[in-house]
Amino acid sequence: MLELYNTASRHQEPFEPVDGETARVYSCGPTVYDFPHIGNLRTFVLNDILCRYLAFKGWEVHHVMNITDVDDKTIAGALTQGVSLSEYTQQYTEYFFEDLETLNIKPAWKYPRATDHIKQMQTLIEKILDNGHGYEVAGNVYFDISSFADYGKLSGIEPEELGGGEYTRLDDEYDREDAGDFVLWKAAKPDEPSWDSPWGPGRPGWHIECSVMSMEYLGPTLDIHTGAVDLIFPHHENEIAQSEAATGQQFVRFWVHGEHLIVEGEKMSKSLGNFYTLRDLLKEGYSPQAIRHQLLTAHYRQQLNFTLEGLEQSERAMQRLNTFIERLPRLPLPQGSSKEAGERIDEARSNFEQVMDDDLNVPGALGVVFELIKDINTLIDAGELRDQDRVVLRDFLVQADSVLGLMTNQLEEAEREPALDEEIKALIAEREQARNDGDFARADQIRDQLTAQGIILEDTAEGTIWRRK
Ligand SMILES: [Zn+2]
Repeated sequence: MLELYNTASRHQEPFEPVDGETARVYSCGPTVYDFPHIGNLRTFVLNDILCRYLAFKGWEVHHVMNITDVDDKTIAGALTQGVSLSEYTQQYTEYFFEDLETLNIKPAWKYPRATDHIKQMQTLIEKILDNGHGYEVAGNVYFDISSFADYGKLSGIEPEELGGGEYTRLDDEYDREDAGDFVLWKAAKPDEPSWDSPWGPGRPGWHIECSVMSMEYLGPTLDIHTGAVDLIFPHHENEIAQSEAATGQQFVRFWVHGEHLIVEGEKMSKSLGNFYTLRDLLKEGYSPQAIRHQLLTAHYRQQLNFTLEGLEQSERAMQRLNTFIERLPRLPLPQGSSKEAGERIDEARSNFEQVMDDDLNVPGALGVVFELIKDINTLIDAGELRDQDRVVLRDFLVQADSVLGLMTNQLEEAEREPALDEEIKALIAEREQARNDGDFARADQIRDQLTAQGIILEDTAEGTIWRRK
């Protein structure tokens, strides 16, 4: 049974969707003002692994990830570039989706954008006000944390600790009754995009976006909410306060938080020159496959030390994996199945699920796959792998990769190629026959056809051999 570490209870707990069928998962998505850095991407890969594994366990997955396309940073960026907010955020939204695809991250069920949900945000704010949990000052609407007894239950923060100081990324800490109160709606400033509201023109606060877009598509109670650890406070604490103050129901059953990564032992920063986007690494010649692998080498609740040396190791590990997958369908194997191989694959299958059930232990799951490959290589050398075992093995690799997402292309390619080989062999035989029959026009035609497919023929004393261009 799958167990997940729940930040809310600080324990690992058995997980099942509340309705037994559909896992409702919400993840804080990108603020589209820049390229995601590899720290962001690590969190997105965690979301991906989680959702893939929920599907592996047989549940339907409704995964929603928001796109924050209005906040201080996006507004500032648009102003600097002298373009409209939507034009500015559109380009970075596209880069974000490109990065997800490059890293073989499966698309979420929905990607709602904040600016498409302004009306719903106003409705939720009105509900919070009606329920006595907020107040308005000069066109700004605040959440009154003293009205919400459970405030601090996720992060462990005591509301009394919030008496001023630097605790929030919001810039408008004025006119509030309590220093811990946070903004739900911000009054418009000159030159900033704004929307009409019952409190005058303005725009939503950042926290309200996530409460609205999660509950809009997943209902008042989510099975799982994910994000990076730095979002626990204030963002997630505030999401809980807003949502539960409005609905009176539990907002989230499981909070799953991913740890940060550091680079070469240090905090990633532009000034240290150790700040990487996916594009930076691709430009250096690293493969998406190795980058994804490197991001999976630490358990998600552990800090990951991302290093270029580690990335090189991932490249080599992926090469070994690719060579194995490529070679597997072409091995001349005896017919039947071997007891030893069958048992070894079964063992791997059950170990894989066991480690993944244990709070998504991906490094453990990678270990299971690589150990198996090592042992299978030994069996191949000893002539102990048979053609039926190969089918079972491939089956397991496909299943494991539905979670890991590391060898999807390689597995598909390897499957296609032997079929292609057969086709090529048939054409070469037909060409030989045509030449024996003196039908040189047909023989040339076949050669041209193969050349067009990137296949080079060489006629030797031993017959025709072929290779890929
Ligand atoms: Zn969020």
